[in-house]
Amino acid sequence: MPLIKTAGDLVALGHDLVQRGNFVEANEKYSEAARKFAKQGDMMGANIASSYAAVVAIGQQMANPMAYRIASQSLMNIGGFMMKIGLREVPANQLATELDLLATELEVLSLSPTNPQQFKDKAQALQTAAMQFRAKMTGQVLIIPELFSKTAMSGDMKAPQLMALAEEALGESLILEDPKAAAEHYQSARLWWMQAGRQDFADAASMRVRAYGRAAKCWFCGREVSGEGIHFVVMAAELTDVVKRTGEGSALPTFDPINNTIFACRGCYSAAFKLADDLAIKRTAELEVKIERELAAIRTQIRNLRGMH
Ligand SMILES: [Zn+2]
Repeated sequence: MPLIKTAGDLVALGHDLVQRGNFVEANEKYSEAARKFAKQGDMMGANIASSYAAVVAIGQQMANPMAYRIASQSLMNIGGFMMKIGLREVPANQLATELDLLATELEVLSLSPTNPQQFKDKAQALQTAAMQFRAKMTGQVLIIPELFSKTAMSGDMKAPQLMALAEEALGESLILEDPKAAAEHYQSARLWWMQAGRQDFADAASMRVRAYGRAAKCWFCGREVSGEGIHFVVMAAELTDVVKRTGEGSALPTFDPINNTIFACRGCYSAAFKLADDLAIKRTAELEVKIERELAAIRTQIRNLRGMH
């Protein structure tokens, strides 16, 4: 073996390092190979080596969509060349498509909506991403999750979880105006999570379905409202047996006899809360006056004691 490594040797070394999971050093070897190819005027070789370097560089910044886009751009320059990634071989343009979709997914997931319209926009973007994974990646193993996270999944397996998130975003967009409709979207989300094999998220969605779908009559004002935690609130209370019997025969509950809680619409709850807050502030101010008066008395006593000596 010659002492000076050729560009081709460096690419082969890069492949070995990738197989051993050493992506940082693999990146160095591929980059060095790209420089050597370029110096020799082999632009195809340089593009291939740069593409390998850009793909393994994703391992250092998996949450950054730009890393995926840069690698995708580089791969597009080499078309149908068969890339050797770990134990797999994949056409460069197919890997480029995967990287673009993963970048889009990261961008959509990082959106933090604050109003109903933004929640609707996020839901739409999630649905579009789900459709693209299904259309372009069905039956194909995703290279990146397998390489860096040892997760084997085909492209179409991404779709159910993106659809679940879309339904949840739609639910959030409706919660203020129509809690029952929001509950229906969480019900759809639950089914998508189950299809995605995420029982934990399905259970969380179920809880939202129950809470948002639950309706109650306000203990204080008698208004009928749905959407627990949003439009009505559960408050701890003291309920006697006589009080509990008064609820019999009413279509909507005003209290929960088992947990000793009452239901209050957001209006009554906020009024009670504000009143309690005001009383606490008033009481604190009264205490401060009292303490200040007692401190003044103690200071006088101390002065008097000193005066005696
Ligand atoms: Zn009320």
